[in-house]
Amino acid sequence: MATSIWWIRRDLRLGDSPALTAALEGGRTVIPAFILDDRLLQGRMASPTRNRFLAGGLAALDESLRSIGGRLILRRGDPRTELSRLTREVGAEVIVAEVDHSPFARRRDAEVATALPLQWVHGVTIQPPELVVRPDGSPYTVFGAFRRLWASLPPPTRRGLLATPSSLPELPAIPSQPLEAVSPPGEFPPGEAEAVRRLERFLEGPASNYDEGRNRLDGDGTSTLSPFFRFGMLSARTAFVHASEALEAADTPGARTSLQAWIDELVWREFYIAILYHFPNVLDQAFRPSLRRIRWHNDPAAFEAWTSGQTGYPIVDAAMRQLAQTGWMPNRARMIVASFLTKDLLIDWRWGERWFMQNLVDGDPAANNGGWQWTAGVGTDAAPYFRIFNPTRQAEKFDPQGAYVRRWIAELQDVPGEHIHEPWRMPPEVQDAAGCRIGRDYPAPIVDHRHQREVVLAAYRAAQDAAG
Ligand code: FAD
Repeated sequence: MATSIWWIRRDLRLGDSPALTAALEGGRTVIPAFILDDRLLQGRMASPTRNRFLAGGLAALDESLRSIGGRLILRRGDPRTELSRLTREVGAEVIVAEVDHSPFARRRDAEVATALPLQWVHGVTIQPPELVVRPDGSPYTVFGAFRRLWASLPPPTRRGLLATPSSLPELPAIPSQPLEAVSPPGEFPPGEAEAVRRLERFLEGPASNYDEGRNRLDGDGTSTLSPFFRFGMLSARTAFVHASEALEAADTPGARTSLQAWIDELVWREFYIAILYHFPNVLDQAFRPSLRRIRWHNDPAAFEAWTSGQTGYPIVDAAMRQLAQTGWMPNRARMIVASFLTKDLLIDWRWGERWFMQNLVDGDPAANNGGWQWTAGVGTDAAPYFRIFNPTRQAEKFDPQGAYVRRWIAELQDVPGEHIHEPWRMPPEVQDAAGCRIGRDYPAPIVDHRHQREVVLAAYRAAQDAAG
């Protein structure tokens, strides 16, 4: 019987899987294979938390495959070498894989394609980035225009989603590396079943208030699906179809606005994937040429205070400690800490981008780069660079009672509400009553926001003037 290899990369799922579906065509025996590539697992941007999430996801996928008669074949090494070997071992006529648009993947895949019979299918995004372009084929660089074209393309429908196969042809006896026995990150149990559960839970609850809830740091107003999208444990098309149906069924304007806002976030994801696809240089430099030569201060001690949640700004520290403990933080918190690093500490956004990649369970080159460039004000966004978040105002707005801060910073547990976001303003006797002496139990602010605002504006202005 004819045999194919399903080369799994960012598609750890059986539902709505174009690669698996194509690999099965003509009744072929499918070899589901994942290649552990140390360049990714141990490279500069690798994250132990994300690796554990991936390992757990592979175990969950193996279990799902076994439940329908298959199993996962795991190999470690260079994909070209490993796939050549596997192709010979099983006599595969074709290797099917989902296109991955990131620069590293494109280089790797081009190399593999020179030696092996590869068939590409589209699946990481809802609309392929090469279709969301201007009539002359040039890319959009502003989200609004990208979104308009994106929305004019035929949307996926429920009938168009690909079914999970109910059984797989029996695999030949071929060796596989044992699955790594690691404990996955507690807050993110990996796997397709969990992703589907999260999608359902979100659409039945927080989705209808997402427009407001997504920014609240003291609630769980978002889907927390990002790690699952990152590894394709849920297809973006499935999420879109379910959210669109919920939008159609929504009976209040607020719920409709909210569901539309959530769908727009899926489009933001595709926008940044498209930006990285068309402009791979953004991984090394600012999208805007005029802001490529900012004179960053890059103080290592300030960076260390930021990474360890010891800046003296509670909202920043809470978020950085959440990241350290869970590998995740909400979008609003990401914007606040990224703004603080670049605008208050004047540290190069690429330092923050790398720290996020090394720690985020959902770390994704496109979304992460897009988020950092957006916040640093050097990216595609049309907003001017002098949008600077005031950490205290952000905290008062999005964590009004200080519940988020107290959740992540034990030292501030008993600080009264009126001082929770500026504890350095507590009179000494209040510090004593709260068991939190500033400078002893919790740091004094490492910078003065108002002063830094002027410093950063001058630095950006100088870069722009120098660029002419
Ligand atoms: P929801 O609000 O439920 O949104 C649904 C999905 O839409 C998300 O899971 C995600 O896939 C996508 N999405 C939402 N917002 C964005 C956005 N602004 N850009 C791109 N996609 C988005 N997201 C990542 O997936 N990986 C990253 O490495 C990453 N790094 C970021 C760095 C910075 C500095 C910033 C400001 C944002 C970053 N984001 C990143 C985007 C966003 O913060 C996360 O996707 C979001 O917080 C994930 O939470 P959620 O799944 O509950 O999102």
